[in-house]
Amino acid sequence: MNTINATQFIAMFEAMSESINQQRDYLNKLDSALGDGDHGTGISTAFSSAVEELHGLSTPTLVDVLKIGALTIMNRMGGASGALFGSMFLKGALTAKGKSELSKTDMDTLWTNALEGVKQRGKSEVGDKTMVDALEPAVTAYCAEPDMRLAWHQAALAAREGAKRTETMIAKHGRAKFSGERSVGHQDAGANTVAYMFESIDAYWQKVTHGEI
Ligand code: ADP
Ligand code: MG
Repeated sequence: MNTINATQFIAMFEAMSESINQQRDYLNKLDSALGDGDHGTGISTAFSSAVEELHGLSTPTLVDVLKIGALTIMNRMGGASGALFGSMFLKGALTAKGKSELSKTDMDTLWTNALEGVKQRGKSEVGDKTMVDALEPAVTAYCAEPDMRLAWHQAALAAREGAKRTETMIAKHGRAKFSGERSVGHQDAGANTVAYMFESIDAYWQKVTHGEI
């Protein structure tokens, strides 16, 4: 059970989409303190569209799932953050090329490339008060745990801790940058989305483990 196939990856997209939809208003609220208040609406619409597109595919390969998921997020969300969330999965698609299953090692590569993709595109580092503050610790925790199921859990915990840490940071990118010192005291919206992504994937795999799905 240390592998992931295309059907399971679609289920992971469904889990992420459901959780992000539930948190839409909260994510908008976080973004309204620092940005323009649209993050929840944008990301939930983007993930819902991705799931819809994935359901429309007849026999998708892993590359199809990641590529179509990524491109739909990019197209439906637009702007800087659509490109960032999309590039995360698009970089992942490279790892999946020609594979019907992803091993734990493949998944380590996928997340490492995804993180690099986001950092390169956003020119952002840990401490800048962005999604990278949740994604980087999550990827580090994921890669440090060889068991895939436990790795999701460790990554989810690390992402949540990372998102919380953004509260004390001064924003250096995006619209939030304009709030400067005023950004202290508010968590970053994109970092919370990353935490919900990993938490929902972890919850999905826990349900699989317990035979609930
Ligand atoms: P927009 O700023 O276009 O309204 P969103 O509101 O959807 O986009 O997303 C804002 C989120 O995008 C922020 O909370 C932050 O996590 C992320 N973000 C913005 N700029 C960058 C960047 N340069 N690098 C990484 N993440 C970024
Ligand atoms: Mg915004």
